[in-house]
Amino acid sequence: TAKQIRPLIAGNWKMNGLKSALAEATAIRDALTTDPGAPEVMICPPATLLAPLADLTQGSPLAVGAQDCHAAPSGAHTGDISAEMLRDTGATAVIVGHSERRADHGEIDRIVLGKATAAHRAGLTAIVCIGETRGQREAGLTLDVVGRQLAASLPEGAGDTNTVVAYEPVWAIGTGLTPSNDDVAEVHALIRRDLEARFGAAGSRIRILYGGSVKPTNARELLALPNVNGALVGGASLKAADFLAIVRATA
Ligand code: PGA
Repeated sequence: TAKQIRPLIAGNWKMNGLKSALAEATAIRDALTTDPGAPEVMICPPATLLAPLADLTQGSPLAVGAQDCHAAPSGAHTGDISAEMLRDTGATAVIVGHSERRADHGEIDRIVLGKATAAHRAGLTAIVCIGETRGQREAGLTLDVVGRQLAASLPEGAGDTNTVVAYEPVWAIGTGLTPSNDDVAEVHALIRRDLEARFGAAGSRIRILYGGSVKPTNARELLALPNVNGALVGGASLKAADFLAIVRATA
């Protein structure tokens, strides 16, 4: 059942964090346990901190992920970073298709698909983000939009060992707003159904994270919902105490 899936709590630092932020990561690393029942925990810092964070967490239960990659393995793409280069830093995962990248950089599903494919090629877990805007929700289009993004953003080779889906309603990100428990459960059920239809048994094990204003005060109820296998946490991942409270809310 879904509850046998090991939860993943991933922190997305976005464009936050100078070298001094490594102190927060150190505090998180030192508080984690290796209990079999403990969730998997990951920090996705800006690219500038990937290598130092990977060094700091080597051999610890804290994993390191990146926030974006280019689809190509190398070449004339000034300012971009390939999935292979991320892997070279010690990162084991990469977020692709975050709504801020879809909005700021025009990343449509086809681009996200290319990036997820690149992540798999490089041996990284692709954390593929999908979610509706406020306008789409108000127009009753949530399930259509999420289903279409999921179908078009996930590569053929997706499975439970190389892919995580993050459902992040755009209007819930950084706003303090969250959907009702029923609304979260409805979308996660749709995602689960689509994953199983497309990927069979592996689709029933792919983790589906909820993201958007997850905080210590709402984490426990969100994480207890069916087909919610963890959280992608933005603002509340920047302070070790808040992030660790969310990690403990999986228990
Ligand atoms: P938030 O961001 O937790 O600050 O709402 C979540 C995300 O964008 O991944």
